[in-house]
Amino acid sequence: MVGKNVVRACIRDMQAYIPGDAAEDAAVVKLNQNENRYPPSPRAVKAIESALAGVAIYPESTSRTLREAAATVYDVPVDHVIAGNGSDDILRILFHCCCNPGDVAVAFHPTYSYYATLAAMHDVRYRLIDFEGEYRLPDSLNLDDAKLVFLPNPNAPTGTVFPEAEIRRLLQAVPNGLVVVDEAYADFCAVTAMPLLREFDNLVIVRTFSKSYSLAGLRVGLGFARPELLAELEKVRDFYNVDRLAQAGAEAALLDQDWLRYIAGKVAATRDATITALRELGLTVYDSGANFVLVRFPSAARAREIYEGLRSRNVLVRYFDTRGIDDCLRVSIGTDTDMDVFKKELEALLE
Ligand SMILES: *Cc1c(COP(=O)(O)O)cnc(C)c1O
Repeated sequence: MVGKNVVRACIRDMQAYIPGDAAEDAAVVKLNQNENRYPPSPRAVKAIESALAGVAIYPESTSRTLREAAATVYDVPVDHVIAGNGSDDILRILFHCCCNPGDVAVAFHPTYSYYATLAAMHDVRYRLIDFEGEYRLPDSLNLDDAKLVFLPNPNAPTGTVFPEAEIRRLLQAVPNGLVVVDEAYADFCAVTAMPLLREFDNLVIVRTFSKSYSLAGLRVGLGFARPELLAELEKVRDFYNVDRLAQAGAEAALLDQDWLRYIAGKVAATRDATITALRELGLTVYDSGANFVLVRFPSAARAREIYEGLRSRNVLVRYFDTRGIDDCLRVSIGTDTDMDVFKKELEALLE
């Protein structure tokens, strides 16, 4: 059994990350992976089509024009931006670059579970600290030993939005490591830590084109940090990590902020209407700044039953067999039509 035995013990011992079910069937109302159910900017689609002519040639290694567009949109210098093959690539680069085996990474429970997978891969000790009350950061933060601290804002899968003062408090509580604010869903509400880049050299912000920009299939993410840190991250980046089509599509999508605002605004309005409608059904629904809502049922058995019932009626949502949220379902916000189908099928199941 040489083949398997040469693999590092931390890899053999870890569980692979399990994404939500992919579903290509058009009959399925797909509300399980927080994708955007509206199309991307038509300019992005055109740019991808035009880029096809160049695929015989390697892409520009540093995604320069994409990063320049990001610098313009987010009002930061271009040397504060790194591009990745999805934001998951940026997260992997951070572990690769910063963590020795045995180092400590911290996140708050419940949260995006890929951080745990990445920690396991890099033989990093992963500490999950429970949120307090309804998903607030703990009053007392002891994070002196942390190399990397992760906080999605808004958080996944709860939708909780942390105000800037809380991000600032977290940055001040991590004297020897980086705070990674994962802004995968920030376009669906008004918060961003971007202005704090001027003040804190231990801040990294991660963004993705997979949610608000409707480009999950293209695989593009961005990281923002001080240039001294980014120069180090650049060393471990795969040098052609963002392909030609992806660079072109993401750049055009960024430069079409009118489309982004139009789509993100629509999704946010549908989200708020969905929260109201679900509360009127007597369900517990948490406030959300993201493109999904977390709905709590009276028991784990009931949540699983509703999940299965919806699935048999061609509506896919997400169930997590995870401590503290095993009685919840996470429902992505689709189009108004998607949400009408979801509500109709849910009501039938609740009767
Ligand atoms: C969806 C999601 C990501 C992954 O984004 P990709 O750019 O598609 O890799 C990262 N972080 C959080 C919190 C997410 O929900």
